[in-house]
Amino acid sequence: MSQVFKIAAIAGDGIGNEVMPEGLRAVNAAAKRYGLSLQIDTFPWANCEYYARHGDMMPPDWKDQLQGYDAIFFGAVGWPATVPDHVSLWGSLLKFRREFDQYINLRHVRLFDGVPCPLAGRRAGDIDFFIVRENTEGEYTNLGGRLFADTDREIVIQESVFTRHGTDRVMRFAFELANRRERKALTVATKSNGIAISMPWWDERADAMARHYPDVKTDKQHIDILAARFVLQPQRFDVVVASNLFGDILSDLGPACAGTIGIAPSANLNPERAFPSLFEPVHGSAPDIYGQGIANPIAMIWSGALMLQFLGSQEAHDAILRAIEHCLKDGPRTPDLGGQASTEDIGRAIAEHIAAQA
Ligand code: ATP
Ligand code: MG
Repeated sequence: MSQVFKIAAIAGDGIGNEVMPEGLRAVNAAAKRYGLSLQIDTFPWANCEYYARHGDMMPPDWKDQLQGYDAIFFGAVGWPATVPDHVSLWGSLLKFRREFDQYINLRHVRLFDGVPCPLAGRRAGDIDFFIVRENTEGEYTNLGGRLFADTDREIVIQESVFTRHGTDRVMRFAFELANRRERKALTVATKSNGIAISMPWWDERADAMARHYPDVKTDKQHIDILAARFVLQPQRFDVVVASNLFGDILSDLGPACAGTIGIAPSANLNPERAFPSLFEPVHGSAPDIYGQGIANPIAMIWSGALMLQFLGSQEAHDAILRAIEHCLKDGPRTPDLGGQASTEDIGRAIAEHIAAQA
């Protein structure tokens, strides 16, 4: 491949700084193994130290600086001791999502051998599904208001906004993904029995899209029972599509069902590639363990695999996943998985495995 992929690496705060080098180590090992050309540039902003010096999380021209990249590889943001979380989050990550129209939030939930599962009796292979969350509209708006504030008659209204464009594009992405998977099963999260305007319409848009994908088995489930089934019957799921709010909740519940937060990856995608997409671990900056070199880097490394897959290299993705699988089963472990290894030990073990694969 002669194309050079441009990656912007932004470590952010806390353990973002510790897991980023290991994420890059794995990405570089896989790129080398499969002849991918990467140009990786690091950016020293979108962190709370930058905020302390400049009064903002990012420079005014951040968008121009990042626009030309194929992907953003992001660590974690937040240092609540100095900057409130809503300031650091809205000043960085949420700006990327909105201004770069990353309308898909994708999480892969998978249980590996060697990872203790909080659900009794589950083994590797029982849990392996994707959550596709709508990332830009729906229930998360600033529309509404308060009437008769501070009286007994007080009324609070919060609107949801669903557009046909916004809904159809997330449905299309989910059906495309399900169609590429072996089981081809798509679960549509809904609540059309209780939320009587937007959710029946959401179901209709799912039905309309389903007509273009005759091979995909579609099934609608109300969000309450769907959440219960994540816990009771996780093997039922293959691809789940959900609105912004429902997807937000499911995408924390899913990884929790599959063990430690230290391994869960996520992707914020602009599938049309009009803007860079962003790949990051699900976990935050973990101030409580920062500086000890014990953060589990696997979530960052797996996010790197999703990034290489999005850039077109399925084989680089698969090689990283094989190395993760091997490491979780037999390899060194960080304390969150009951071991004593360091962040760097894990990163090196995974990079070595990638380089040594036949
Ligand atoms: P967010 O910033 O996403 O809102 P948070 O600040 O509530 O999340 P995290 O920073 O993810 O939470 O940390 C939650 C807990 O999980 C902490 O106790 C932290 O130490 C632990 N944790 C998070 N990431 C890792 C990791 N990679 N390895 C080990 N432990 C982790
Ligand atoms: Mg946090």
